[in-house]
Amino acid sequence: MLVPHRESAELTDSLDLISLPNNKNWDGRIAYLDRDGVINIGSEHYVNSPSEVELLPGAGLAIGKLRRAGYRVVVVTNQSPIGRGHWDSENLDDIHAEIRTRLLSEDSDAHLDLILFSPYAPWDGAWARKPNPGMLEAGRQLIDAASIDPDFQGLKLRFDNEWDERPDESTSFMVGDRGVDMAAAENFGVRAIRCDPEIGISGVVDSILGGTA
Ligand SMILES: [Mg+2]
Repeated sequence: MLVPHRESAELTDSLDLISLPNNKNWDGRIAYLDRDGVINIGSEHYVNSPSEVELLPGAGLAIGKLRRAGYRVVVVTNQSPIGRGHWDSENLDDIHAEIRTRLLSEDSDAHLDLILFSPYAPWDGAWARKPNPGMLEAGRQLIDAASIDPDFQGLKLRFDNEWDERPDESTSFMVGDRGVDMAAAENFGVRAIRCDPEIGISGVVDSILGGTA
């Protein structure tokens, strides 16, 4: 099975979660976010370097609001330029470092708890590639496990029908700007919210938080 990859680490390397704002206890809620068209401006030619990163307006503030409301934030992004041979995962790590820096400069609570990506080309048929739910499956298991033990003693990730006892996702959600994001959310079993790719997460965050308060 072609499983997700993780920013700057092996998938099950230790994961130190940053405390939620005001040391709020985490109650299991995750905001699963697509990247391009949600956090930063996307391009049909991809975002190919840190210098091409441009945040959507208010993305940092919106992610800060999510964490202040008690959500952990997991980014799940298809990155086929790697599988197509355009560039490598070190370049993607640099792009993600730039996104993190810009989010935090906008709002000091706007931490991304975990970034997962699918490096595969569309024709690979990867379980990790949206519309398949592999990144969401891994994201839930990694965040749950890290909140108990950052070193993941004994963690074995399960995917697809190998994973039968799943936690409740009814208070979590996925935001994306495309049909594949909505399909991945549905295939995983979490509420799907579509945003306008020219506005992104800031256009939907208040109705999400208002609706779950
Ligand atoms: Mg997108």
